[in-house]
Amino acid sequence: MLQIKEIRKQYRTGDLVQQALDGVSLGFRESEFVAILGSSGSGKTTLLNIIGGLDRYDSGDLIIDGVSTKQYKDRDWDAYRNHSIGFVFQSYNLITHQSVLANVELALTLSGVSRARRKERATEMLRKVGLGDQLHKKPNQLSGGQMQRVAIARALANDPNILLADEPTGALDTATGIQVMELLKEVAADRLVIMVTHNPELAQQYATRIVRLQDGRLISDSNPFSGEEGEQP
Ligand code: ADP
Ligand code: MG
Repeated sequence: MLQIKEIRKQYRTGDLVQQALDGVSLGFRESEFVAILGSSGSGKTTLLNIIGGLDRYDSGDLIIDGVSTKQYKDRDWDAYRNHSIGFVFQSYNLITHQSVLANVELALTLSGVSRARRKERATEMLRKVGLGDQLHKKPNQLSGGQMQRVAIARALANDPNILLADEPTGALDTATGIQVMELLKEVAADRLVIMVTHNPELAQQYATRIVRLQDGRLISDSNPFSGEEGEQP
């Protein structure tokens, strides 16, 4: 179970202080598809990065399986990111001079898996996202939707409990965006998926829960979870 409590985060640039998050509390189920909506600058990316351990909160707490992260050291955050979290970005963040297969294999190099097993696992993940016949292409030989599917395969290669996606369909046309949403919905069947999106229609259609942010605060949550209603196994 993942929980954030009264998270606050400021960014300072010169004299300007920006309150990116202003006391956000949320509990997440082990398996659900959460969409985070809000206008540009409302704090969506900051929230996702804090949940994923890419950025640090100033105050409040992020509680992972009942344990506070207040005392976390860098290597605790590293372990959390490497083992529990998969990240998908709007711009795919693939390595352009490496093959599709190598891009996914790279996600496994930190996990102490043998080379043969890495290749096997990466191939399996790419088959799952429908790219089993594109393994040896370079990313620039793929469509945007295919690149995003590679990124999803890479994010899932380590079998993380949590997949975080920041505007994963932001650069895609509608039809391709729908394919990616279908895939994320499948992924959310047995893990937590938290997706930031600008698109309320896609959120409405695919997510099981919609959370809205405005000016760094939570303004609505369609299906809140306190963490006390008893987690389904
Ligand atoms: P969103 O993803 O909803 O567009 P962000 O979380 O990226 O919003 O940003 C929230 C606020 O924090 C914005 O006002 C933004 O300008 C500011 N901000 C985000 N990241 C930084 C940063 N690294 N340095 C300074 N200000 C930032
Ligand atoms: Mg953003």
